Amino acid sequence: MSESCIFCKIVRKEAPASIVYEDDDVFAFMDIRPVNLGHTLVIPKQHCKDIYETPEELISKTYAITKRLSTAVKKATNADGISIIQQNEKAAGQEVFHLHVHIIPRFKDQKMPNFAKLTFADRKQLEETAQKIKQNL
Ligand code: AMP
Ligand code: ZN
Repeated sequence: MSESCIFCKIVRKEAPASIVYEDDDVFAFMDIRPVNLGHTLVIPKQHCKDIYETPEELISKTYAITKRLSTAVKKATNADGISIIQQNEKAAGQEVFHLHVHIIPRFKDQKMPNFAKLTFADRKQLEETAQKIKQNL
């Protein structure tokens, strides 16, 4: 665990999050600046900075849950497609240095926006979407 890491704080329930999944090793919650509602982040609970520092076993567990959640996100949002993105290092667009996999609902003819220009979603909407995803798990 890292004291200052925002995702570690979310895992410890010391920072607000709209949680969709939790087990002993993996945690998932709504991205606060979603590309589209339903944009979910899947993380190992253990603080690992990026793909290079994460043990293979934890990568496997994180992606197994990513697969299950992808289906639930698609059903909950009626998405036409799902993008899975995982960024490592600043040059690749990583902003939070605790490994996370993005599950992004995509819709026909919508181009992927610039992540840096996304705005904050309303917490109530994030909570409602998290509930819908949980119901589809
Ligand atoms: P990346 O650019 O791949 O490091 O993605 C970091 C993601 O974390 C961005 O999409 C942010 O919107 C998201 N994010 C940052 N802080 C929080 C938070 N407190 N709760 C939920 N999502 C967050
Ligand atoms: Zn962390």
